[in-house]
This record gives sequence, structure tokens and C-alpha cells, in this order.
Amino acid sequence: MADVPGWYDNDIERVVVSAEDIRTKTDELAKQVAADYSDADGVLLVCVLKGAVMFMADFARALGRYGPPAELEFMAVSSYGQGTTSSGVVRILKDLDRDIAGKHVIVVEDIVDSGLTLSWLLKYLESRSARSVEVVALLRKPDAIKVSVPVKYVGFDIANEFVVGYGLDYAERYRDAPYVGVLKPEVYQR
Ligand code: 5GP
Ligand code: MG
Ligand code: MG
Repeated sequence: MADVPGWYDNDIERVVVSAEDIRTKTDELAKQVAADYSDADGVLLVCVLKGAVMFMADFARALGRYGPPAELEFMAVSSYGQGTTSSGVVRILKDLDRDIAGKHVIVVEDIVDSGLTLSWLLKYLESRSARSVEVVALLRKPDAIKVSVPVKYVGFDIANEFVVGYGLDYAERYRDAPYVGVLKPEVYQR
């Protein structure tokens, strides 16, 4: 586990996506998006806090090398659910700072699990008269998708297991790990 920094060595069972693979894939996704939007005068990237923050920063930076110019927006939502399952009922904690009417919006997501939050968000963005709305997600768990959400750009399809790192947390920890990995079972017993 050369990729695992010393601090987390004891907690991580397995690296699922390495920092190197994230870098390579992010660059590929940015090239794809740049090609698809080559006729647009700009795009508006919408990051849903906090999980997507690392991917947003790296994806925006990669897109900046290939164009078109991107504006960055952040939203925070809380999804009402029972325990760990999200219900699809969403409350906005932080809304967009500006009007998105007529803009090409790209939602930047960390992971699509049930797809419930994303499905709500896409309807919301469309209701605000975006010119187009697409999604780029670093990770997707295909088994868990209850709602069919059109995710045009996907980094990695992963197994249906709980992952942390690269923005994703367990109890607000591990967001700063540079890779995506699975925790050892004993971490949950602490
Ligand atoms: P969904 O509405 O698609 O079920 O859930 C979306 C959100 O749940 C993701 O944006 C992410 O914040 C969180 N989530 C889903 N799967 C995982 C996971 O394996 N690990 C972590 N840390 N968060 C997850
Ligand atoms: Mg998210
Ligand atoms: Mg979380």
C-alpha cells in the first residue's frame, strides 16, 4: 500500500482507487467534457458539498487545461433518511449564489449510490432553467441505483461497499486521504 500515508495505515483495509488512477481518470474525463462542450462559451460546475470537494478541485483544474472556461458553484444539501439510507427528500442548506438560467451546468459528484439525491438535484437545476444539465461522477455503485439518473461521465464503477477517502468520509474522517479505500471492520466498532 505505497499509496497509503502513514497516518491511515492502520485503518485502511484495501485501496479501491489509487491516487494515480484518480489523476489519470480525472484528466480523461476533463478531455471528454472539453471535447463535448467545445462549441460552448463556458460551463458552470456545481459541486455538492462536502464529498465532491476534492474531485471538484481536481476536475476543474484539469478542465482548465482543455477548456471551455468553467465557473464554480457550491451547494450544500441535507437528505432526510432513516439511518444511513437516503430517502430522496432533500433540504437545501446552501443554495447556488447566482442565476443559472441559460447556462450549461455540469454537476460534479463524488459518488452515485442510490441516486436519490442526484435525481432531486437534476430536477431542481432544470427548474432553474439551466440550458443543459449533465453529471460527472468519480464513482458509481451500479448495484445500488434505485432511481435511474443519467450520469454521462463516470470515473469508476465500484462494488457495493462503503468507501472513504478523496472527499468521502466516515464520521467526518478520511476526507483528506488521497485515494479511495475500504476501512477495516474494527474501525466501525470504535
Ligand atoms: P445517494 O443519494 O446516491 O444514495 O447518495 C449520495 C451521497 O451519499 C454521496 O454523494 C455520498 O456523499 C454518500 N455516499 C454514498 N455512498 C458512499 C460511500 O460508499 N462512502 C461514503 N463515505 N459516502 C457515500
Ligand atoms: Mg455527493
Ligand atoms: Mg458522508
